[in-house]
Amino acid sequence: MQFIALDLEWNNVYGKKIKGFFNEIIEFGAVKVDAEGNIYDEFTCLINTQVGKKLRANTKEITHITNDEIKTGILFTKAVSEFKKWIGTEDTVIMTWGDGDVRVLIDNCKYFGCGDRIPFLNKYMDLQRYFQRIKCTSKSQQIGLSNAAEMVGISDDGYSLHRALDDSKITAKCFNAIREDKIINEYIKECNDEFYSRIVFKNKVISSMKNPLVDKSYLNCICEECGKPAEALTKWKYSNQYFRAQYRCENCNKDYQVNVRFRKLYDRTEIRKIVKPIVEEETTEAKQ
Ligand SMILES: [Zn+2]
Repeated sequence: MQFIALDLEWNNVYGKKIKGFFNEIIEFGAVKVDAEGNIYDEFTCLINTQVGKKLRANTKEITHITNDEIKTGILFTKAVSEFKKWIGTEDTVIMTWGDGDVRVLIDNCKYFGCGDRIPFLNKYMDLQRYFQRIKCTSKSQQIGLSNAAEMVGISDDGYSLHRALDDSKITAKCFNAIREDKIINEYIKECNDEFYSRIVFKNKVISSMKNPLVDKSYLNCICEECGKPAEALTKWKYSNQYFRAQYRCENCNKDYQVNVRFRKLYDRTEIRKIVKPIVEEETTEAKQ
């Protein structure tokens, strides 16, 4: 099995064809890694952009790529076919740091008529996800590539961060530092229909009580002091992602703020419930 670390740079532009903003890829960078962790081949190319003829100021600032350099690039469709040729016929796993690069690739392939699928992607691994599992870091907070490199003792001195080739090299080094072939298999995804529908799925917070995914059994409050159900003081109101209401336990003379969020994920509904006692402010006490 051949492992390839891939990194892309892009420029946010308005696409008339889709009547919205999208990230147009401006650079590909990738390296092949052998079983001993050596980088033995590399691929890099700039894209002659078609939608955004000029780079945005922040793109230039982050990547240090200039408009003149972009003009020397090749068309996106050509880059895809060159990259496919470079990969070759071997069974290959493409790795990226986080799945954002894959989503951007899907958008670009659609926009430039390469189809609904990424032509060179058969097996994929989100290295950021794997890294966070191995290093047991919080799932809710994503680790950036340079922080990850630092965590495993890789120096990014001498590399141009936010240039595709150098970022792909650092990605490959992070992979080598934590590579455990027994666990890796769990993280290698076949890029089938389910893979695509999962990756393009957008999580959605539910804002209407009428939505059947709202499980009403969560819309209550148990007093933390006496363990009895508290009574609703207000109706449930939706604001800023959460349904919110106040409850009172008459036994304990205690008020609670209850916030519940229902979020539709690809294959389940995620429920987050926060119950906090309402502490009376000192100023009101002083008045009494
Ligand atoms: Zn109580």
